[in-house]
Amino acid sequence: MMKKKFDPAMAINSVAEISAERGINPNVNDSATFCFPKGQTMTDTFTGDVQGYYLYSRHWNPSNMSLCKALAAMEGTEAAWVTGSGMGAITCALLQCAKKGDHIVASMTVYGGTFAFLNNYVERFGIEVTFVDTTNLEQVKAACRPNTKVIYTETMSNPLLRISNIGELRKIADKAGAKLIVDNTFTPMVFSPYILGAHIVVYSMTKFINGKNDCVAGAICGDQDFINSLIDVNTGTAMLLGPVLDSFRSTSILKNLYTLHIRMQKHGENAMYLAKRFNEIGIKANYPGLESHQDHKLMVDQMNKGFGFGGMISIDLGTAEKANAFMEAMQDKGVGYLAVSLGYFRTLFSCSGKSTSSEVPQEYQTEMGMSEGLVRYSVGLDNDMEATFEVIQSALKELKFA
Ligand SMILES: *Cc1c(COP(=O)(O)O)cnc(C)c1O
Repeated sequence: MMKKKFDPAMAINSVAEISAERGINPNVNDSATFCFPKGQTMTDTFTGDVQGYYLYSRHWNPSNMSLCKALAAMEGTEAAWVTGSGMGAITCALLQCAKKGDHIVASMTVYGGTFAFLNNYVERFGIEVTFVDTTNLEQVKAACRPNTKVIYTETMSNPLLRISNIGELRKIADKAGAKLIVDNTFTPMVFSPYILGAHIVVYSMTKFINGKNDCVAGAICGDQDFINSLIDVNTGTAMLLGPVLDSFRSTSILKNLYTLHIRMQKHGENAMYLAKRFNEIGIKANYPGLESHQDHKLMVDQMNKGFGFGGMISIDLGTAEKANAFMEAMQDKGVGYLAVSLGYFRTLFSCSGKSTSSEVPQEYQTEMGMSEGLVRYSVGLDNDMEATFEVIQSALKELKFA
């Protein structure tokens, strides 16, 4: 029998709720605290003897619960919890899994903030970290120690768009007795890391998931036991460090989640078009949707079909001076914005080595094959990408780069 394929977009539909007043949009419940019918109910809620009551919004609130149900459905996990930033999600997930004396194996190409946290910050908790190339499974295996508690990677790496083999990394994690945590920020719906084998999936919802660049937010998706441990009133990292997402914001993100599949499809279609056109004019574009990309086959094997290959591409202009001149020209001509971040409806571009990966030391940048002239695009939702490419090409010609 054919296994029914997982459809993250349809999964979200299945948890849509009708509010008490029969409004079709989710209600905002902005209460910081919640009242109990009886004193004993409050006591029993604290001890965990009774379920079903909201206590205080740093722990749970109804608006965040609605968003979490949709995110869990999208990932195929039992549960989720939402945070005020992607870094809030990443740091809480990591600190919940690793304590004093533990060891973490992490990808050396992780997001700059994550890299800085692992490289500069966790040592104060007595946690050790080894950075490896997580696309090289032998390196990951060799780095594991008896006290390794986490293997941490991103499904699609920044800015070279390398793909992690989640199923194989899970096997290594199981052997080591570690949890596999995967940051899927670049590729929501395109990949379902939990279904592929990750224990925990983390997101910066600031990017594609929200898609409007009007807030910073994050999410942690995993088993119910893990989410419960995060918000345990005595020992939960999320409960005690307190990075909860505001309920107004979670309601607006939930509404944007319902258009995510269409946006991912269009981001992917436009990125593919742009990558092909750059290659045609002799500027090598890095895009895992192209057969020429070293991880193309691995991506095809793991991806959910029908959501495209993601909205990120990169090209290499050789030097930071050239990259800057080109980005300034593109912004002047209205192609998009010279800005960090990604997943916006307009195109964003930045020079990775000097911006979003600047926390990563030069030696690692060199080792991962990152040039200082690398321009990363988060390709927008332009209706006519051919017209946009003509403008990009005119900028290249005026600068005599092509
Ligand atoms: C932006 C980003 C983060 C950090 O998220 P914030 O919402 O900015 O805190 C983490 N991982 C990846 C891959 C990102 O792109």
